[in-house]
Amino acid sequence: MTRRVIYTVAVLALLTLVGSVAYRLPPVQDFVMKRGAQLVFGGSAETFDGLQAVVCGSASPLGTNPDRAQACIAVVTPEHFFLVDVGARAPMRINQAQMPLNRLNGVMFTHFHSDHIAGLADVNLGSWVGGRQESLNVYGPEGVATVVEGFNTAYRLDRRYRIAHHGVDLLPPAAGPMTAQTFEPGVVWQDDTMTVTSFLVDHKPIHPAVGYRFDYKGRSVVISGDTNASDNLFAAAQNADVVFHDALARQSLDIMRSSMAEVGRSRIAQIVTDVIDYHADSLTLEDAANAAGVRQLVLYHLVPTPVNGMTEDMFKRGLSGNTILAHDLQTFSLPPNSDEIIIR
Ligand SMILES: [Zn+2]
Ligand SMILES: [Zn+2]
Repeated sequence: MTRRVIYTVAVLALLTLVGSVAYRLPPVQDFVMKRGAQLVFGGSAETFDGLQAVVCGSASPLGTNPDRAQACIAVVTPEHFFLVDVGARAPMRINQAQMPLNRLNGVMFTHFHSDHIAGLADVNLGSWVGGRQESLNVYGPEGVATVVEGFNTAYRLDRRYRIAHHGVDLLPPAAGPMTAQTFEPGVVWQDDTMTVTSFLVDHKPIHPAVGYRFDYKGRSVVISGDTNASDNLFAAAQNADVVFHDALARQSLDIMRSSMAEVGRSRIAQIVTDVIDYHADSLTLEDAANAAGVRQLVLYHLVPTPVNGMTEDMFKRGLSGNTILAHDLQTFSLPPNSDEIIIR
């Protein structure tokens, strides 16, 4: 027995040694690089035959956690691809999930706080480079034209450099700048199988702020954007399969702001205090979701952003076991005309 253990340890040590040396040899590095590139660029996320929602950002601006991007939910079907908000780091998540940027139908903004729009330029560029042939539509309530015009202006030189470098065949110039699509709440986008409806939410003093409902082949996903618990939202979310809702955990936030005040950070303590009245207290959502017949409530845009398992546990205090705290890259797959929700 002892001899076997010694033998096993010796073999493992030898393999580790050989491995660590081999990775420094140029031919081995070249081989590994080639296989990695084939895997990354040769694959794309398999297309699910139904409605899929992918968390491309679960964080709020409050709290620093590089493992969570800021607000972003992707809605994907075999024929559609929409992004609802693209906060900081969300483009990295979109690339990690190998989402089909070449067929992006549009970005839909809930409102124009920086944590919802900061990733727009990278998404536009990634989609253009990926092969989109027409200008990217960016949907939003009043104000979206200002945001789109600003991004288009800021990246004008970048577009010029890239067209000069790669040529107009590879990067059609008309597909570079984005197009703002301003809407009034109601049906925003529709074809034979998909209807996207927007509705006002309560993010006072920010107005307008909207949420979205996606209906596809008998399945539905609702995305809140930033809001207090809102009757309007739960009216729009009647019998929805999945609702992604902004959430604030008072138990964590209260400790955070009193600690900030105690160590003399009164400015940031004041800002954190101001945040309380325009996000949904996590404990106010489950009853409303149940009353609306929502199948699965998922909390995202977490205020404050949990940084580890313990702070996630704190966030869940007082919630039933059925509510999910979103993680980046978590995927909710809804087969057509069914009750099933596949979560991975
Ligand atoms: Zn906001
Ligand atoms: Zn926000």
